[in-house]
Amino acid sequence: MEDCIFCKIINGDFGTEFVYENDDAVVFKDINPKADTHLLVVPRIHVESLNELNDEALLGRLMMTVKEAANKAGLKSYRTVINTGKEAGQEVFHMHIHILSGDIRL
Ligand code: 5GP
Ligand code: ZN
Repeated sequence: MEDCIFCKIINGDFGTEFVYENDDAVVFKDINPKADTHLLVVPRIHVESLNELNDEALLGRLMMTVKEAANKAGLKSYRTVINTGKEAGQEVFHMHIHILSGDIRL
């Protein structure tokens, strides 16, 4: 989607380094980390939020991606967060899963 910052990152427009990627998603560091390690798992398809993501299989694979990315980053203990909707704190309307580990300031 044209005006979506995460679509632009996925396209490589900003040269963002992916700490992990597969056919379904890319994983990169949050620009404003709220933990010692703060990663974002972002599906390659543009979907506004969890409410619009109705592909059960993709949802399952995204959770597998969380584990793969955490494993690659050497994280054994971590928190996952999905903000859905403005009132819940969602700021970027391209669905994503936060991975937070270490000193979590959230
Ligand atoms: P939300 O509040 O929507 O669940 O989370 C959006 C997250 O994206 C925030 O933690 C914010 O710091 C992060 N973010 C926003 N813009 C960028 C960006 O351009 N690059 C990266 N790496 N993270 C971003
Ligand atoms: Zn997008």
